Amino acid sequence: MHGDLSLNSLQQGEAESRAAQLTINHTVVELDLTNPSADSFTSRTTITFESRGRESFLDFKGHVLTSASLNGVELSPNGWRAGRITLNDLRSDNTVVVEGQMSFSTVGEGLHRHMDPQDREIYLYAMSFLDAAPRWFACFDQPDLKSSYEIHVRTPEGWTVLGNGPSQRVAPGSWRIMQQAPLSTYLVTLVAGPYASVLDEHDGIRLGLHARKSLAEQLGEQAEDMLAVTKQCLDYYHRTFARRYPFGEYHQAFVPDFNAGAMENPGCVTFRDTFIYRGHATRAELASRAGVIAHEMAHMWFGDLVTMRWWDDLWLNESFAEYMTHRCCADATDYPLWIEFGIVRKDRGSVDDQSPSSHPVAGSAAADAASALQYVDGITYAKGAAVIKQLVAYLGDPVFLGGLDRYFDRYRFGNATFGELIECWSEAGAVDLLSWAESWLRTTGMDTLEVVGEPPEVAIVKRSAPLASLSRSHALTVGSLDSRGAVSMAAEVIVADSPLPITVPADASLVIPDLHDDSWAKIRFGTDGWSRVAEALPRIIDEQPAVVIYNAIRDSVRDAALSPVRALDMVCGGLQSCRSDVILASVTGFALDQLAGGYCPVAERSQRLERVHRMAWQVLGESEPRSDHQLTAFRLVVRSAADVDGLHRWYRGDRLPEGIVLDPELVWTVVERLAALTDERRLITHALDRDPSAAAQVHAARARAALPDADAKEAAWSLLMRPSAASGLELYATAEGFFAPNQSELLKPFVTRYFSEIGSTAQFRTGWPLGEVAARAYPWSVATPETLQLADQTLAGDLASPLRRALVDGTDRMRRAVRSLATFG
Ligand SMILES: [Zn+2]
Repeated sequence: MHGDLSLNSLQQGEAESRAAQLTINHTVVELDLTNPSADSFTSRTTITFESRGRESFLDFKGHVLTSASLNGVELSPNGWRAGRITLNDLRSDNTVVVEGQMSFSTVGEGLHRHMDPQDREIYLYAMSFLDAAPRWFACFDQPDLKSSYEIHVRTPEGWTVLGNGPSQRVAPGSWRIMQQAPLSTYLVTLVAGPYASVLDEHDGIRLGLHARKSLAEQLGEQAEDMLAVTKQCLDYYHRTFARRYPFGEYHQAFVPDFNAGAMENPGCVTFRDTFIYRGHATRAELASRAGVIAHEMAHMWFGDLVTMRWWDDLWLNESFAEYMTHRCCADATDYPLWIEFGIVRKDRGSVDDQSPSSHPVAGSAAADAASALQYVDGITYAKGAAVIKQLVAYLGDPVFLGGLDRYFDRYRFGNATFGELIECWSEAGAVDLLSWAESWLRTTGMDTLEVVGEPPEVAIVKRSAPLASLSRSHALTVGSLDSRGAVSMAAEVIVADSPLPITVPADASLVIPDLHDDSWAKIRFGTDGWSRVAEALPRIIDEQPAVVIYNAIRDSVRDAALSPVRALDMVCGGLQSCRSDVILASVTGFALDQLAGGYCPVAERSQRLERVHRMAWQVLGESEPRSDHQLTAFRLVVRSAADVDGLHRWYRGDRLPEGIVLDPELVWTVVERLAALTDERRLITHALDRDPSAAAQVHAARARAALPDADAKEAAWSLLMRPSAASGLELYATAEGFFAPNQSELLKPFVTRYFSEIGSTAQFRTGWPLGEVAARAYPWSVATPETLQLADQTLAGDLASPLRRALVDGTDRMRRAVRSLATFG
């Protein structure tokens, strides 16, 4: 029997009753992958389980159901509908066996297949998050039905096979993977193919790094750095959680076409393979990879050892992993990450938290599994982590860690809810935690903290978030800067409902309410605040207050409370002397995409771009040749360039600034910029001949979509709006390149088409790519009242939930740009 495309997404109520009824004992999965070029593969699953009721159902999203039996009795093929197999006549102890043909995935969900364009080798990996496990094996797919696993795999000879437990080659091309510790279905994985590996061991734990063969050289060069970070993180978590890593070996596989940054499968974390850098990686990029390594490892405790009961508590995984990452990286590695957290992640979270789609950190309304994917956002990650930072300030470390110790102890290898975690902290000594948690974790939006008055007597005034029903208190450090840009005073305070008077030095040039970026709030500097900011920014010495100031600027622009022209002046003035690569790259990105993009009248865009370009040249001129700072600045010079001839010279390696080396990634930065300026089809082909890698295919897709040419736009459009065999990463790149800010005339018809056609993509796209393509292709740079009207009309109709979330957020972004344009022109 063949599969039905309209699959039921599991409802929370269904999951609750199935969990109450069933206990899973053991799952054996047998896969035949000996012909990885075929359309599908054979998957046979045997599950032994107990039942306290007569009826239930199993999830199976195969292409063909070959056979199914329960306790030795064949099941009727009619019992398989919409991804579920009905089970009747259950006993207290049962064995179900399901065999079927499963399709290889092209979009990174289920068992994904990738052919390396360079050497034509085939690579497979399984991604089961969020509800994709039944795409490669039959299972009771929900987080709180855990099972031990045994996976038997047959593959072509010479492959490497990895999974959640130690992988044993039992015969040539035949493998067995065992994991006795119970796993949630969404964490089960498999990595198979001619992967290159670097192996090591630390503290009795076997370590492995793996990537496709065509990245073997880079993997080898970068292994030392990644292994050092891995070992530092293991030691840190062992020490901090007072319990060891619970899943045996620890493999990290860098896999093709990965949608997310990485996935925390116990024993075998999968990462996007762009983390194996092909060009020169700056320290900021190495730090960002270290952060992902630390994040996924934190999940081994938060998420894998103790798992949320249902998706509404996704924050129990993500917010904690994110908080622990930054703490671990600062305390135990050479890559402190709080600056990146502030300038990249908190800004994204603050956009999400002020969108109409905002939701509380804890207990978001995930009625079914499919809609839970939309809570994988900046609120769950960045706001959640910032709120946990506040929680630690509130509880103190001994109570925070004491509660976690109880939590891991009580719920290890099982599941828990928010309420159960609160209980653990209360037992560890937390006082009045429930009302604190209600105010921070069950509400949406951001409070505003503003400076009022003139030095030396000022006050910090809190205005509560628009819809907040409960009042939050903020534990933070108020500080002031002197005229040289140095911190001249700092005081730890709690800001609650009444204005908090503070005495600062009489000559303070700027008072900063959250000097160390500890809380989650909009920051405003009071009357004349922006003039003070403009003066202070070029002189500022510490990075943390700079993060607070740049985020306040971005936030005020989005609120139409600060003119984009004035913001551009401040930003360009400040970045000229900024020493942090991550701040420089992030804030310049904002200037390019927003201040010179959606927040800029079309006629003025090239002029504002030129302003950014000049700033980037200046930074470049003042940086050391061959330094990371020089490379960061040069990338920004290229991204803001308008001189086609100059870009062509750089592509050929001519007249590059001294110290700049044209590595493969930098070549594509130049090609992508040229493609957005003029018809460079032949150049893209030429660049692909020089660099036929998978990464190059993605760059080429972005470049082709950006070409200022009607035929090229039609071809890219068809990739976005019609079914195709393109990988997820190629689709996302196409979406990102399409609405280039300098092509308004050419793009006008596509704005209308975006809103009339995007809804139909739900007929052939599911899961991650459905929402991602819609979000990245959103035509927000064409911010006009007419576009806004089209968006509102589309939102008034029916839309699949991932599309709705993408359109609500895109429209909010555009509405803010339209408001700013109306206010400031
Ligand atoms: Zn995570």
